[in-house]
Amino acid sequence: MTDCIFCKIVRGEIPADKVYEDEYILIFRDIQPAAPTHLLCIPKAHIASAAEIDDGNVDLVGRVFVQLAVVAKDLGLGRGFRIVTNCGEDGGQTVGHLHFHLLGGRQLIWPPG
Ligand code: AMP
Repeated sequence: MTDCIFCKIVRGEIPADKVYEDEYILIFRDIQPAAPTHLLCIPKAHIASAAEIDDGNVDLVGRVFVQLAVVAKDLGLGRGFRIVTNCGEDGGQTVGHLHFHLLGGRQLIWPPG
């Protein structure tokens, strides 16, 4: 999508601190980290939010979780971590391209605000 900030990162039009990339997904560091480790994992294809996950793109979502588990291990998050996706206005979503936050490196509080 032309004006989507994460699509621009996928296309290399704006920089990102990339941690992992393949044909389907990209993992990069969040620009405003909320934890010592704060990554974002996105499908390269534009999907607006978790509300648009369906049978046609569920494989992509599976790849997100597989690779986040690998990266979490590689980054030493053996004590645990959190994967979260914010969906829509009430969910606190600010970027309209499906993304999963990986947070770790400190004790995380639940429930969040
Ligand atoms: P959400 O509020 O769940 O939609 O999350 C969007 C996240 O994207 C926020 O944590 C932002 O800090 C992050 N973000 C926005 N722009 C960028 C960028 N150019 N590079 C990395 N992270 C970004």
